[in-house]
This record gives sequence, C-alpha cells and structure tokens, in this order.
Amino acid sequence: MHTFIQNQIKSMKVKILIAISALLFPQLIFSQENYKTVSTVDSTKVYLGGPSYEVKTYPQKFKAKKPKNVILMIGDGMGVSMVSAGLTANGGQLFLNNFKQVGFAKTQSASDYITDSAAGGTALSTGQKTYNGAIGVNTDTIAIKTILEMAEDKGLATGLVSTSAITHATPASFIAHQGSRGSYEDIAADFMKTDIDVFIGGGYKHFAQRKDNRDLTGELKQKGYQVLRDMDEIAKVKSGKLAGLTADEHNEVYPKRKMNLPLSTKTAMNILDQNQKGFFMMVEGSQIDWGGHANNTIYVVNEMLDFDRAIGSALEFASRDGETLIIVTADHETGGMALTGGNMKTGMVKAAFPTGGHSATMVPVFAFGPGAENFTGIMDNTDIPKKIMKLLGF
Ligand code: MG
Ligand code: ZN
Repeated sequence: MHTFIQNQIKSMKVKILIAISALLFPQLIFSQENYKTVSTVDSTKVYLGGPSYEVKTYPQKFKAKKPKNVILMIGDGMGVSMVSAGLTANGGQLFLNNFKQVGFAKTQSASDYITDSAAGGTALSTGQKTYNGAIGVNTDTIAIKTILEMAEDKGLATGLVSTSAITHATPASFIAHQGSRGSYEDIAADFMKTDIDVFIGGGYKHFAQRKDNRDLTGELKQKGYQVLRDMDEIAKVKSGKLAGLTADEHNEVYPKRKMNLPLSTKTAMNILDQNQKGFFMMVEGSQIDWGGHANNTIYVVNEMLDFDRAIGSALEFASRDGETLIIVTADHETGGMALTGGNMKTGMVKAAFPTGGHSATMVPVFAFGPGAENFTGIMDNTDIPKKIMKLLGF
C-alpha cells in the first residue's frame, strides 16, 4: 500500500515534469513526425511554383561614364532570402541577374540596431542616419534635404512609384519631412511643397478625405497635375505632370491589385525622360515587407517577382538609353526568412521565419549602368545616396 502511494506520487511528479517540459520545450516532447505535420499543414510557408517569365539579358555597354538619370529601386524588406526565393520560383533566372556590380549595405538606424522603414528610407533618401519613425528629418527632427529635392533643385525631373500608399514611410522619406511616419495627411500636404513630376501609388484618402478639409487633389489639378485613379488611364499618360492615386490607402496584394508596378515604372520613366537634364526616380516594391511580416512565403514570392518585373521595365529603358543608372536595394530584411527547401525546376520554395518583425541582417545592393562600379563591397545604407549624389554632381 505504502509503495503503491509512493509510486502514484512518483508517476504524478513525472507527469507534471512532462507537462512543464512540453510547455517550455515543445520540440523535445513532440515527435519529429508531429513537427513535420505542423510545418506542411501551414500552406503559407510553401510556394508550390507558378507561372514563370522570360528574363532578357541586357548588354553591359553604356554611353557615358556618369549617369544622367538614376532609378533607385527599393524592395521593402528584401533580404538575400527574398531574392533567392524569387530566383528559385522563376527557375533560376531573375531580371536582377543582369546586375554585375553587387554589394551589401548595413541597415542600422541612429536609434536602433534593427531599423524601421522610415529611418531606412530616410538613410537612403538623405545619406543620414536617423531614429526609427523619422520621415526626412534628422535626430533633432530638423528637415534634411532629400536626393529627390536636390534633383528638383538641379532641374531634373522627379518621380515616386510604390505599391503601398504613396504617403507610406518609404516613398514619404523622399519627399516629406515629418517627425512621425504615421502623420499621413501631413506627409500628403508635403507633396504640395514640391514640384515632383510623377507619382503613382495608393493613398488617395490622405489627399482627398482629410481632417482639415483641404482637397489636395483639387490643389494638384490647379498646379497642372493630371489626377487619375485608374491604372489604364494612368498608363495612357505620355507627358505633363501626373498624380496617380490608385487606391484609397494601399494597393491590393499581387496579383489582386489593378495597379501594375512594371507598367507604372515604365509610364513614369517615359514621362520623366522628356526632361533634357535627366531624372531621379524611386520605385518601391512595398509589399515584400508585408509578406515577411506575415511569415508568408507565397506573399513574399509573388511580390518579389512583381518587383523583379518592374526591374525588367527599368532595364529595358536603361539599356536603350545608355545614360541611366539603376540601383536596386532594400531598407532592411523582414522575417529573418530562411529557405528550408525548394526546387529550381518546379519553382517550389519553402521557408521558415524566426520573427514577425524586421531583422538586422545586411541587405543586397545591385547596380547597373554608368557608375555601377561604385556600389560594390560592404557599405552603409547612407553611402548609397551619397554615391548617387556624387555621380549626379549634387
Ligand atoms: Mg515601404
Ligand atoms: Zn516592415
């Protein structure tokens, strides 16, 4: 009897220990089989393959030593794993394969080891490190002139294209000066203080449905902008000033969105190219980041491939033009994405994500065109705009 009770207590103790261990270290208790079931059941982690596209190869011959036009393309949250995932999904070929000059950028902000898109965008637009959340201002919240504003001062045409709201952190960092990235209506109002030639993205409500009752779309029209909301209409514009506001806030996820990033890029370039002095344009693949935040491989791959096709549009233009420098980089990586499986033939990609936030890992820098050789090795994110400013003679 005595032994029976002792054994009962012993077995209870063991059960409690197992329960505590299961809570603290589930991977020790649940079998490998269970683990496998869990990972394959979550279909968002696996991109099974999909339609692929032809990638053209462009000659590395350029008319000039220095660029007349610069296209800065930012894949928000685009780390090396996102590029690798896209590469696998498209059978080993991306438009990015045309970029022979490659480097890495450190992304730390002035306030944090892990940057957000506002500080990351401001680093890329001004060449200065600032605090997370800052839009075109320094650590004392003083406005810093952006490369887009410098281009405008020098008489170049300027443009912004994004799949998010055009007032969201990344594009905002190039044109607005606000202490906080969430001040969307103030950011929209900052657009009015510039003479930007073309912008295409979401964010209509920040221009048209405002707390201060200002109708910025009306003000834009008075300033001579064609204010359009429909992608087909936007794609028809060949000249003049263009405000393309394709969504109330953010554009839909690819392929649901009607806003077309490769076509928007092409439309903007053709309008900006009419300026004899050249142009500066920033194009953002905004939602690669959101795929990373969602830990969703399918979302990441679809957005990565859409961004790569926009890079294809830029390459088509640049190779014809011969005086255009294209820089492709990211503000930071998102999700700590790791490729845990894949197939180059079927395009299947499987990934794991240790975080739902950003990571501190370096991001790739790809350069094509006159001056591209300046963008190799390890650099700071702030070096990228500094190098561009130098090449453009700012
Ligand atoms: Mg962004
Ligand atoms: Zn993010």
